[in-house]
Amino acid sequence: MGVQHGSKRCKEDQEAPRPHDILWFPDGNVVLATDTYLFKVYKGLLASHSTVFRDMFDLPNVGEAIHGEINGEIVQEMYEGVPLISLIGDDGEDVAHLLRAVFERHYYHRDDKDTPLNVITALLVLSSKYDFKELLKDVVIQISQHYPMSLQEFDQVTEDDVPIFGRERSDCELPLLKAAFKAGVDALLPILFFSSTFRDVSSIFRESDSMSPECLHYLMKGKEQLDIKVHQLISDLPEYLRKGVGSSDCQCSEAKTCFQKAQYTNLSALINSYFYQTRGPVVVAGYLSPICEHCGASVAKSIDEKREEIWKEIPSYFCYPGWEATKARLDELINS
Ligand SMILES: [Zn+2]
Repeated sequence: MGVQHGSKRCKEDQEAPRPHDILWFPDGNVVLATDTYLFKVYKGLLASHSTVFRDMFDLPNVGEAIHGEINGEIVQEMYEGVPLISLIGDDGEDVAHLLRAVFERHYYHRDDKDTPLNVITALLVLSSKYDFKELLKDVVIQISQHYPMSLQEFDQVTEDDVPIFGRERSDCELPLLKAAFKAGVDALLPILFFSSTFRDVSSIFRESDSMSPECLHYLMKGKEQLDIKVHQLISDLPEYLRKGVGSSDCQCSEAKTCFQKAQYTNLSALINSYFYQTRGPVVVAGYLSPICEHCGASVAKSIDEKREEIWKEIPSYFCYPGWEATKARLDELINS
């Protein structure tokens, strides 16, 4: 009884959606409704950008100013004389970002380095949901520029650690992953899953409330597999060392050759490393006793070759085909 009463009061207290300050064109011919805002916009413009809205307006009695019931069919809801369409489950602020990107020439540019993260995630999810094809392309291109799919490029952007979408890079990965998963953009998902494994378990679970259970499952499963691979790589470092030092090109002029003196120290400090922290030159500089330049480069190369082998397998940890197939998918989406 008490619960019912509380629920009722809650519903009564809830504010009715109000016309949006900007997206309310007096001569608009359709009203889109969310829980917070109403948007009075133009059907023709929406239909020209979005196949979902076009198809919706093509349906009988949808988007037309029809009053009364006709043979038991769904009757168009109206708002001050124009058809009203409820966008069920869409956040009002997110819809505002979408509509402003469509109706305002300079609201969103894919080359804008300062596009806020919440705008990017809203545009990604909603342009996919309502099939705003050109907008989706732009957003996917913009995100993919920050998340390249080759190991060398990925190591570089990770090392540069430049803020993206107005935030620290590390703050962007989980929100982008959630949005891309919701939008079903497979061309972005392997690299965003991989990037999200850099976050610790506490950070992941802080974000998990708004993450689909399926997405969380893939992320944790892939993170576990990748951790095992990184641990194997670190455990096998002494083995790669023996292969890398003491060749006939060794430039060591001391009594002890590189082969005799090379050894790792403090390797246990690497055990909690993320994949990008295992780059060959970084490991050699930080954990290997001094050896000649040639042998150092040779050891670093053997570590990097192992990293390349792991890199190739990364999409499969998250149940996706390889990088080449993912790149082909990205090209297909961008060029469609
Ligand atoms: Zn040497």
